[in-house]
Amino acid sequence: MKEETEKALRQLEAEAVVCKRCMLHKTRTNVVFGVGPADAKIMLVGEGPGFTEDQTKIPFSGAAGKILNELLREAGLRREDVHVTNVVLCRPPQNRDPLPDEIEACRRFLEGHVSIIKPKFIVALGRIAARTLLGKHVSIGREHGKLFDFTYAGASFKLFLTYHPAAALYGAETKTRLQADFKKLGQIVKSMV
Ligand code: SF4
Repeated sequence: MKEETEKALRQLEAEAVVCKRCMLHKTRTNVVFGVGPADAKIMLVGEGPGFTEDQTKIPFSGAAGKILNELLREAGLRREDVHVTNVVLCRPPQNRDPLPDEIEACRRFLEGHVSIIKPKFIVALGRIAARTLLGKHVSIGREHGKLFDFTYAGASFKLFLTYHPAAALYGAETKTRLQADFKKLGQIVKSMV
């Protein structure tokens, strides 16, 4: 089963690395495909690759990634056990927000990740990931730390909302909220997996 899932992911990746569905293909260095076990119980979805990710081809490998690793560790979760991807797989220039048409063009790959891996939990990191998955505007300030039963791309899972780890770079208060959310997530995961 894991082998089949791995194979399906590699097929999706082969499609992604040559993708020119949106204008972000013109400015990317690399397509940053999701990383993590094919049978991961937890999937983290961020917004889009930044400079470091564009260079390394690894999601959350820059400054925000260091914070994410720290949050996971504090929550008793291991990065190597989770699957990490983004709403768009190519870096938006100057790290701007991905545009709605870019998100729509790349939805095929997010849906592909979710339908192949079928995780038990998806953590939406920030408002853009939350909005893309839920299909509506979400106030992360109000909704962070909440857990929903949700179905997306034919897979049913628990959806957990929190801030994007990069937000911790700009405010100690947000970092404290992120730490509390991840600790809560760690407890929920332990009680349900
Ligand atoms: S962001 Fe997604 S849709 Fe756009 S070119 Fe990259 S892989 Fe294709």
